[in-house]
Amino acid sequence: MHVLITGGAGFIGSHLSDALLAAGHRVHVIDDLSTGSIGNIAHLKPNPAFSYTVDTVDNERLLAELVDEADVIFHLAAAVGVKKIVEEPVATIENNVHGTEVVLRQANKKKKLVVIASTSEVYGKSTDVPFNEDQDLVMGPTHKHRWAYACSKAIDEFLGLAYHKERKLPVIIVRFFNTVGPRQSGQYGMVIPNFVKQALAGTPITVHGDGTQSRSFTYVGDVVRALLALVAEPKAIGQVFNIGNGEEITINALAEKVKAMTGSASEIVRIPYDQAYESGFEDMPRRVPDLTKIRNLVGYEPRVGLDQILREVIDYMRA
Ligand code: UDP
Repeated sequence: MHVLITGGAGFIGSHLSDALLAAGHRVHVIDDLSTGSIGNIAHLKPNPAFSYTVDTVDNERLLAELVDEADVIFHLAAAVGVKKIVEEPVATIENNVHGTEVVLRQANKKKKLVVIASTSEVYGKSTDVPFNEDQDLVMGPTHKHRWAYACSKAIDEFLGLAYHKERKLPVIIVRFFNTVGPRQSGQYGMVIPNFVKQALAGTPITVHGDGTQSRSFTYVGDVVRALLALVAEPKAIGQVFNIGNGEEITINALAEKVKAMTGSASEIVRIPYDQAYESGFEDMPRRVPDLTKIRNLVGYEPRVGLDQILREVIDYMRA
């Protein structure tokens, strides 16, 4: 296959590029380097099956060319990280909605398969865990900027499914649940790279809120395997899938684990949400995927648990 990855210099996109190239496919990456980095793909530059363009997906003429050459498009380019989203809500909404519009419009001309990266954030503050793909999404009010991310991604999902229904475009929607692993940057607030960086530096490990909120972290390699399995399964088209790992941990327990595994002397401190993000910030108390749908269709099971993920991230950050 010839594969186009938007946002391919990002954390997930660069791991996806590695796996596709290793499987003998050709990969072209388009990335504006807003949150991605050339460092993530530098090792791929000598590979003749790899090419890249530094530009945004808004460059519609360029995107039209790239889509023409591709058999499959993974649309991963998006604003990421709760911190960034709260600080830059305009860019978040514009990038996430407009970028997907452009990708779908161009892909539709040649009916190319598009995988749209969405997020577990779309479940919002639902407490109905584990989250399954058919349940209601529970958003907060529009003046709380965090929810702009979920709503912008929900619009991407609606648009992708609308193209599928009305124009017969092959589209697959995937909702990622806290994907983590080496190369993820702590710069945009993500908890694991942040905690590991703090623990290794001996600075305080900053738990937001009371730390009783939980997450289920998914190893990036598991996510990549799930993506490759879905594009190889025609029955996945027109559907939405959770991609995650059911192993749940509170942020307090995560902080303790990172401290123990790094042998750090850092103290664990609690920072109120309104200091960490913005006044009135709402977090989601729990986030756990129901994986029945993807398991039943392609036999997906996560293989890498939190301890191994943390060991890899710690080694990566130490190096
Ligand atoms: N968090 C934290 N300390 C940090 C960064 C994040 O306690 O330095 C918390 C954050 O408030 C949330 C959880 O860790 O409850 C996961 O945050 P992240 O930004 O990684 O992903 P989210 O699940 O919010 O998209």
